[in-house]
Amino acid sequence: MPALSQRITTLNGDGSDGWDVFYRARAMVEAGVPVTELTIGEHDIGTDPSILRAMYDSARGGHTGYAIVPGISALRDEVAARVQARSGVPTRRENVLITPGGQAGLFAAHMAVCAPGDVALHVDPYYATYPGLVRSAGAVPRAVATRSAQGFLPERSALEAASEGAASLLINTPNNPTGAVYPRATLQEIADVVTARDMWLISDEVYDSQVWEGAHLSPRALPGMAERTLVIGSMSKSHAMTGSRIGWIVGPEDAITCLVDLATNTTYGVPGYIQDAALFGLRAGADLERRVAEPFRRRRAIAERVLAAQQVVRMIPAQGAMYVMLDVRGTGMNGEGFANALLDAHRIAVMPGESFGQSAAGHVRVAMTLEDSRFEVALRTLCAFAGGLAKAA
Ligand code: PMP
Repeated sequence: MPALSQRITTLNGDGSDGWDVFYRARAMVEAGVPVTELTIGEHDIGTDPSILRAMYDSARGGHTGYAIVPGISALRDEVAARVQARSGVPTRRENVLITPGGQAGLFAAHMAVCAPGDVALHVDPYYATYPGLVRSAGAVPRAVATRSAQGFLPERSALEAASEGAASLLINTPNNPTGAVYPRATLQEIADVVTARDMWLISDEVYDSQVWEGAHLSPRALPGMAERTLVIGSMSKSHAMTGSRIGWIVGPEDAITCLVDLATNTTYGVPGYIQDAALFGLRAGADLERRVAEPFRRRRAIAERVLAAQQVVRMIPAQGAMYVMLDVRGTGMNGEGFANALLDAHRIAVMPGESFGQSAAGHVRVAMTLEDSRFEVALRTLCAFAGGLAKAA
């Protein structure tokens, strides 16, 4: 076959560091071996039946043709109202593009603000697709390292050092994988740096409905930031609609106009019946979102209790999102070694921190996506296993 483009053959950079645990667990499940899977961010509940009903009614009602590319007006208005209510920033339909999930929004946002070859920053640890989506957009990813001891919050000095010549900075709060919710002071430092360098800020807020401590603050709400911030939202996490592929970008009107052109030439919009279901979900109000988030709040409390009863594994304070990050360096192993050993010994699959960047080395990420009592047993097993390794070390 003719050569493939260098862009597509090098999307994953220098390999799939740390993902072998995930694939090994999947292969074991396929071979009929029961595995306790605490890897990816998939709820253990499905989409609410009322949302599915709205989807069905819309499709049966004929909303199965091409939908208008920027998104149906009622949904753009509803997203604008939601974003305005939560952030206090005046937001109108013209500031909103509906996208096939947050992932497509993240890619499109980088396409919008990075010229080919531009440097795009992201904070390390990061959601595993970040470097690849930046490369997909023809830009060059550059990581901003953070420290476990600082709760994985980006520090001003690191931001300043990395931002020389960069076009954009991608942040994520509440954070996957660390569970950090960025405080105002951190967001203000970020705003100061991107403003001083005349950069764009891309703010991934797909976990904004999962906050256990403190409050979610959108950096778009900080003075002067609405004109240089693109916010990525999604209903995957807030409404357990991961498979429906529905999200949005909120930003300055001129940027959204260009992003609509990109959507016209790439995705050509989002299915109308999915948008109608999303509209129903948003209009259902905060109660539904609370119900979706509640199990993670409970399990986070379980994790705190289990982890407090031992000394070897340190839990990074989880202020939001559906994961807990555990520092397993006390076992003498790195994250990948620990995750592989845990899978072999106890058939429990967690993600090595290394899958999310070098700043998370020596950690593992545990998704809180398992029924409470089984979750607790899995965590107890993990801690006991770590305790045994530490003694042997
Ligand atoms: N951002 C973060 C931080 C995520 O964890 C995810 C999904 N796990 C996404 C974006 C993409 O979500 P989706 O495309 O389902 O909206």
